[in-house]
Amino acid sequence: MRKLAASTITGAIKKLCIEANQNLSLDMLAILKHAHSVEKKPAAKLVLDEIIRNAKVAADDHVPLCQDTGFLIVFIEIGEEVHIKGNLREAVNDGVRAGYKDFRKSIVDNPILRKNTRDNTPAILHIDFVPGDKIKIGILPKGGGAENCGFQKMFLPTASRDEIVAYIVEGIKEKAPLACPPIIIGVGMGGTFDYSTFLAKKALTRPLNRPNPDTGIAKMEDEILKKVNRLGIGAMGLGGDITALAVLIETFPCHIASLPVAVNLECHSHRYREVTI
Ligand code: SF4
Repeated sequence: MRKLAASTITGAIKKLCIEANQNLSLDMLAILKHAHSVEKKPAAKLVLDEIIRNAKVAADDHVPLCQDTGFLIVFIEIGEEVHIKGNLREAVNDGVRAGYKDFRKSIVDNPILRKNTRDNTPAILHIDFVPGDKIKIGILPKGGGAENCGFQKMFLPTASRDEIVAYIVEGIKEKAPLACPPIIIGVGMGGTFDYSTFLAKKALTRPLNRPNPDTGIAKMEDEILKKVNRLGIGAMGLGGDITALAVLIETFPCHIASLPVAVNLECHSHRYREVTI
């Protein structure tokens, strides 16, 4: 059994928080550059140019890509042959505290009383167990604007594929202008009411250029992307050819009576990072 000090996880989380908030990932940068090259509307092209320039300034000056440095979502896969010495949840929150020292603190302790926790904790922690002796940590800082634009529906199991596609595209038509487009669309299909929303968020951790391995689902991703981009919302809602950069669908088995579908959006400051230790 491999032993791992919880402080190692704290250090990894701190590093990931800083890296994700200051440096746009290579796949995000590549997809934004492609969007810029194909966008035909001048205002949207200008906005995309500014988004790409903003990423360079953030990286060069070591400042956040966006003032909203987000609510930290943490995905941890723990190898069954690893023993963590210490409290995992505390280790994660210590890492967030350290990583967000110089960033905006966006978390309030209570949804009604709303007192800022002043250190951006607690993080939301999703834990899974996998074979092996490694630990994979993924972090997704979720900006409030894009997170507010998520939606979910419990379809009847008789719903057709086309009805689901239409529901997603209609929802995006209403929400995308508020989510700092161009957006990334995470979709969770199956599971239960709550699990579908988890899948929609988990979908956002996939590399942007990797379609779902199921070809039928990959076709659905492609169809939704094309339909959303035909809406003409464009970068920051100014009208344009590129409203969404990617659609990522994750699925799970579901009850014979259910067909949950959830959508979780990411903005042009999509920030996902992971490390394996
Ligand atoms: S939605 Fe994204 S780009 Fe817009 S303010 Fe929030 S983090 Fe920033």
